[in-house]
Order: sequence, then C-alpha cells, then structure tokens
Amino acid sequence: MHDFEAVIGLEIHVELSTASKIFCSCPTTFGAEVNTQCCPVCLGLPGSLPAMNRKAVEYTVKTGLALNCRIAQHTWFDRKNYFYPDLPKAYQVSQQDAPLCTGGCLEIPMGEKGTKKVGINRVHLEEEVGKSLHAGETIIDAVYSLLDYNRAGIPLIEIVTEPDIRSAEEAQVFLESLRNIVRYIEVSDCKMQEGSLRCDANISLRPKGSTVFGTKTEIKNLNSFRAVRRALEYEIKRQAGVLKDGLAVEAETRHWDEQKGITIAMRSKEHASYYRCFADPNLVPLDLAAEWIGQMEAELPELPGARRQRFIDGYGLPEYDAQVLTSSKEMADFFEEVVKGYNDPKTVSNWIMTDILRHVKDQDEETEGIPLAPASLVELLQLIEQGTINRNQAKEIVLPEMFEDGKSPRQIVKEKGLEQISDTSQLEGVIASVLEANPDVVQDYLGGREKVMGFLVGQVLKETKGKANPRLVNEMIREKLKQ
Ligand code: ADP
Ligand code: ZN
Ligand code: MG
Repeated sequence: MHDFEAVIGLEIHVELSTASKIFCSCPTTFGAEVNTQCCPVCLGLPGSLPAMNRKAVEYTVKTGLALNCRIAQHTWFDRKNYFYPDLPKAYQVSQQDAPLCTGGCLEIPMGEKGTKKVGINRVHLEEEVGKSLHAGETIIDAVYSLLDYNRAGIPLIEIVTEPDIRSAEEAQVFLESLRNIVRYIEVSDCKMQEGSLRCDANISLRPKGSTVFGTKTEIKNLNSFRAVRRALEYEIKRQAGVLKDGLAVEAETRHWDEQKGITIAMRSKEHASYYRCFADPNLVPLDLAAEWIGQMEAELPELPGARRQRFIDGYGLPEYDAQVLTSSKEMADFFEEVVKGYNDPKTVSNWIMTDILRHVKDQDEETEGIPLAPASLVELLQLIEQGTINRNQAKEIVLPEMFEDGKSPRQIVKEKGLEQISDTSQLEGVIASVLEANPDVVQDYLGGREKVMGFLVGQVLKETKGKANPRLVNEMIREKLKQ
C-alpha cells in the first residue's frame, strides 16, 4: 500500500426536508403507507405539468452558499432519460448542464493534522425516484418487485466533490462534516438509515508522487459512515492487488456487500451520453436575482466552523472540546444553554464529552439530541458544587437515573437518600471508630506515609455508604491526627 496513493471523490444525495414535493403539492412525510402520497404530476401521467417548489430552490442555494459555492444566476433543468420502473416518467429532472451551485469547498478537521480543504465541484437540484422492493434475497433472484411512488418527486440535491480526498478516514470525516452543515442550515434531516443522505464513492489509486489520475471505480450502496470507510479501505486494498499483479483496474460500478465486507462488480461504467439529456420544455429556466441570493446568505445561521472558533475564543475551550461540541447543532445548543445557567464552560464541556456522550452513544448511533433538559444538568452541577452530593454519586447514580426517567436531579437525590454528610458532628464518631480499628495504618501515616490517607477516607466513605463528603473527611482526619 505504501507505493500507492488513493484518490477519492464523493457524490452525495440529500433529500430536502420541504413539506411538499418538488413539482406538486404531495407531502414528503417518511414512512407513510405505500402509494398514498402521489398524484398525476409525480407519477408523470400524460397532461400533468410540473410547478417548481420555491423552497427546494432556496434550500439548494443555501446549501451551496454554506459550501462556499458560486450561485448561478441563470440555470435550467434537464431531462435525464432512462427506463426503470421506479421512474414513472422515464426521465429524471436534473441539472446536468447548469447546476445551481459550483466551485465551492469544505474545510474538514483532521485532528492533529490540522484542517483539510476539499473542493466541491457542484451542488445541483433534481428529483427523487420511487422505491423498488424486491421480493427475494437479491434483485437477481426476486420473483417480483413492488413499487412505492411516495418518494418519487421529493426534492433531492446532489453534491459532488473534487477528487481531493486521499484516504478512507478523510472520506468519513468529510461526510460527517457535510452532514453536520446540512443539518445546521436545516435543509435536510440527513438520516442515512432512512435514505435521506446517501453516498457513492469514486476511487482510484496512483503511484505515490504521480500527478495523473488512475482508472476509478464507483462504489454504491453505502448506507452508513462506517460502510463508507470500510468499503473504501477494502477497495484500496483490492485495487492495489490488481495493480501489483500488473493488471488494469476496470472502470466499473461496484456494489458494497455489508455482510461479506467486500465490493462486487455490478456493471461497467455508463457514459453521460447514454442519458440523452436535454432541457425540460415544461419548466421555465430560473433567473435568480442577486438581491435574493444575498437574502439567502443573510438567512444562513452560524455554521459549525464559525461556531467552533467562537467556542474557543468566547468560552476559552480547547480546540478539541470545541470540535466535539460543535459536531452537532443539538449538542452545541445544549452546551450553550447549560453554560447560561452554570458559568463554568470547561466543567460543562467535560461532563458533556465524557459521561453524557457515552450514554448518548450507547443509545443510538444516529440520535443527535441529548435527551436531557439543559436545566437539569445545571441543577446537577449545582448539587455537586454545593456539596450536597459528590462527583462520583452524580456520575454513577444520579446521571443514569436522569436519562432513565427524566426526573430532576434534586428529586433523585432525595429519593435515594444521597445527600452527602457535611455535618462534622455526624462524621466525628465514624472517623474515631475507623482510626481506632486501624492503628497500624494510623502509625504508617504518622510515620510519614501520607498515601495511606486514601485508605482511611475510603473506610469512612464505606461506613457512611458513600455519603460522607470526602474532602471534609480528609480535612477532619488530618486535623485529628495532628493532635
Ligand atoms: P464520471 O465521468 O464518472 O461522471 P466525474 O468527473 O463526473 O466522473 O466525477 C464523479 C466523481 O468522481 C467526482 O466526485 C470526482 O471527484 C470523482 N473522480 C473523478 N475522477 C476520479 C479518479 N480518477 N479517481 C477518483 N475519483 C475520481
Ligand atoms: Zn404529486
Ligand atoms: Mg459525472
């Protein structure tokens, strides 16, 4: 592998979260009963005419702006002709020749290696096709196929990168960053498991140091970030093997088999000319006023990169914390809400990045939100600060319970009888008996082995079922042994 460099370009499809479809008023809700959200327009029945959804254009332009693209002031829509049962019109309306957005870039964080710029070739608007359900293990041995046209005509954007990506890891980070941005600007929910974000990966190898590209393959059916990464890792090895044997990589489309962990040749590459694209005569060209584009730009929210920088400058967080916290809008919002109530950004960040994230990850890989009210984390942190409970109790007992049934920390502390004992009169007796029961340890301590203090404090905690305030116990023992 050392002799080759990978060259990767991604093509990403994102379903826009408009309320209605691109050319008709059918709803776009996911999971509705099959074929209940279709009309003559999205089924392409003769005589029906499309009317462009303004929101779909807005969302595409916003995506382009967020990716630093140029926005075309004059564009139009093409018919991409091909026959397939999920495409009732026998053409897909797309933007082969005049994409709305071109020439952008996205900077992705590569940890210690700094950031990396990936060029965006284009973002164009097109329509989603229907969904085929094959009755059988695979399409080949299916006895019949069923078609659901609910999805046909949902607005879809295609984002195409330049071949700037150089490893499977970079591809995964790029995809995660892109998804984050698209979710920040709220133009799609980007749920890979529901198919609203899909990715095809193009990959070739070339000898290290070479400036010309090798022959690429295109991998389809990548349904998760992990799949993108694994498929590319596999394909890099496979192509290296082919090249080392002195053979040529075939330009082809390959299918990722998640179970087997391999890519399989599907078909040889089709040429663009195969689709006989031409401008759709039913749709008027789009002329976008510069002021309108400016308005779209003004409506963009703060993007992840800017927010990350603000977290560093404004809250004094380390770069790593800022990166993790802004990796989803929900998490960044949660952080800022908590800091409003508990003004210690680094402590809040630590809690979110360790205990809270661990819990969220255990639940579901694709949940974005933190299933806690910011106010309840504020309350928990205050309980620790006030010495009502210690950090361990907070982490081990209270926090898990908060996730479990949404009770307030104060209530949990009460129900479980967790209040720390910070009353010296209550602790004195326990401390005395612990010291009495461990004369050797006490001797060790007096002889200069300060480390044994931990043991003594531990014994007091044990006696009080973890409720004693450890810092106080420590001080009290020290005082006592001075005498
Ligand atoms: P095609 O001729 O297959 O349509 P395009 O030039 O439209 O190819 O590029 C499609 C995607 O493949 C883009 O994301 C692009 O960056 C990527 N790509 C193009 N050439 C290569 C290559 N030699 N190796 C890897 N990726 C490539
Ligand atoms: Zn319709
Ligand atoms: Mg192409």
